[in-house]
Amino acid sequence: MDLKPVRTRFAPSPTGRMHLGSARSALYPFLLARRTGGTFILRIEDTDVKRTVPGAEQELIEGLRWLGINYDEGPDIGGPCGPYRQTERREIYHTHAWKLVELGRAFPCFCTAERLDKVRQEQMANKQNPRYDGACRALDPEDARRRVAAGEKYVIRFKMPKEGSIQSADLLRGPITTDNAALDDTVLLKSDGLPTYHLAAMVDDHLMGITHVIRGSEWLPSMPLHVHVIRAFGWDEPQFVHLSVFLKPSGKGKMSKREAAEAIKDGHSIFVSDMKDLGYTPEGVLNWIALMGWGVSEGDVLTLDDMIARFDINNLTPSPAAINFAKLDHFNGAHIRALRTDDLAARLKPYFLREHLTVDDPTLTRIIPLIRERLVTLDDCLPFAAWFFRATVQPKPEELVAKGLTAAQSADVARKALEILSALPEINPATAEPPLRALVERLGLGPNQVFGILRAAVTGQTVSPPLFESMEIVGKEKVLERVKKAIEILEKM
Ligand code: GLU
Repeated sequence: MDLKPVRTRFAPSPTGRMHLGSARSALYPFLLARRTGGTFILRIEDTDVKRTVPGAEQELIEGLRWLGINYDEGPDIGGPCGPYRQTERREIYHTHAWKLVELGRAFPCFCTAERLDKVRQEQMANKQNPRYDGACRALDPEDARRRVAAGEKYVIRFKMPKEGSIQSADLLRGPITTDNAALDDTVLLKSDGLPTYHLAAMVDDHLMGITHVIRGSEWLPSMPLHVHVIRAFGWDEPQFVHLSVFLKPSGKGKMSKREAAEAIKDGHSIFVSDMKDLGYTPEGVLNWIALMGWGVSEGDVLTLDDMIARFDINNLTPSPAAINFAKLDHFNGAHIRALRTDDLAARLKPYFLREHLTVDDPTLTRIIPLIRERLVTLDDCLPFAAWFFRATVQPKPEELVAKGLTAAQSADVARKALEILSALPEINPATAEPPLRALVERLGLGPNQVFGILRAAVTGQTVSPPLFESMEIVGKEKVLERVKKAIEILEKM
């Protein structure tokens, strides 16, 4: 791959929540910029004012920050090519739209919505593709200017050549030749004075020196128009890369709004801010989205630094990727296992605090090695380990009764175990396990029967981290207290 420093951008429209598609549209240009020692820019494309959602820009910025996708220029940090919010660049687009009019490559159009609608209806009735019928193309430019100056409502449309063809190219798909006759006189400047994407993005990509436009494949059909617009200004076009689409887990079609909302019931989501709440790590999420559309040959568990070192635009794939939440779990677990203990402790703590538990840090640090292997998501720490931070535990009486034994027999086992544990100077795996295993032998019971009673007594639950290690952390005093309480419960049954 060419390692000349690139300038890339992530150019989201703040029209909704940040989902994994947006995260990936940010990640690849970021990786390319970092790989080549280039520059990565955040540009907010908010010219569709009706669709702008309050708070969406902030969510995008926070999502990028959480993922570690840092930009070098952007609306909140500035930079040499600002402003980076398109509604603040209105004048720039206005000037450029009129520049195209001057060059004879665009024209003001005064057609009313009603007329355009009527034309569209007629075309559809005649089984033609709906398109602009060219009514204002032939207006005398001076006349048109006078009407604009008089305050008549207008848009500016691109004057698409009627003949010939245009060659555009997508880096992943190769060259594409399109007949100009198939293209429309697309609106570049709307009647509210704001540009459409087709003008704004082309102008900004040029003025911001963007070398590689990496964007969603929904823009692929507009690429010929975009190349027309760019060349009409006399500029060189950037390299275009259109990313593959995401399909729903079944691989059939795109995920609907309703399906996306449903996923959360299974602890999954396609929205970045949910993933954080659901206990996913930025490392896991990044790894997951990175490999949906990028083929890496060796090893698939990658940190952001690994990705930067290996990123190669030539290994991106245009084929659609089905969302696979099992893979997200796989990557998340793998990254959790790779975290340093202090780092993992700091990330788990908020989940305990969310449950209103008082967390003492030394205990948390000691718990980590016992649960790390079992965590798929960070919040999995709760079912395994929340009990460590409770002053008392409340085992269900029936869970204190060992399989195949009565309550009275279980009480008897617990009494014998208590005797052994009381006699130990301290409780840890080395001191407690051998005599308790000997007890299992002596009683002719299974280890699960004896240890099951103790597990329920000490932890208050049937599934927990390893018993003896847990008892060590809980400490002798509390262990004895809890086993005694369990005996009392069993005796009353
Ligand atoms: N604002 C466009 C979108 O959100 C950006 C496309 C692009 O990256 O150029 O779809």
